[in-house]
Amino acid sequence: MQALTNRAKQVDRAPLSFIEQFYIWNILKGMAITFMHMFKKQPTISYPEQKREFSPVFRGLHVLNRDEEGRENCTACGLCAVACPAEAITMEAAERLEGEEDLYREEKYAAKYEINMLRCIFCGFCEDACPKDAIYLSETFTPADFNRKNFIYKKDDLLIPNPKTDAQGLAKAKGMN
Ligand code: SF4
Ligand code: SF4
Repeated sequence: MQALTNRAKQVDRAPLSFIEQFYIWNILKGMAITFMHMFKKQPTISYPEQKREFSPVFRGLHVLNRDEEGRENCTACGLCAVACPAEAITMEAAERLEGEEDLYREEKYAAKYEINMLRCIFCGFCEDACPKDAIYLSETFTPADFNRKNFIYKKDDLLIPNPKTDAQGLAKAKGMN
């Protein structure tokens, strides 16, 4: 039969030698390999006490941005949702009312904004598509959870802390501490 690739490997079916029949030789070989690994540099780290440095292009948990006055940047234009290849983003737009100028930067805002993190592939297309610098992928992980529903991130989960009232929370959300 013709092989589709050249990855096929001939298996050695030679009969076991006298020593090999007791399996001691192979057990010793395995233990020697384990012993040698004890002196090698460990690739694992003790997270969360130790943390790896992220690559400059790391794309983590999404953040909905505010401007320096604490107003929400998002104008619910929907471009991020259209750009998303995983169809992970949904939103509902609302008109800004009189007196809400200090809450929302634009005349329209996202009354509801959700990202399904189980669908998201962290490609960053939503960030690229946004004309208002309203969404970006931070340097933090999406935390693990046992419940699938908890991976539907609502606007309150995504909105960055207000820089005017919670500077520390803001730095944490950006993954700066
Ligand atoms: S990172 Fe990619 S997959 Fe995730 S929400 Fe943004 S566009 Fe969609
Ligand atoms: S995050 Fe940006 S692209 Fe998405 S709806 Fe808001 S303003 Fe538009």
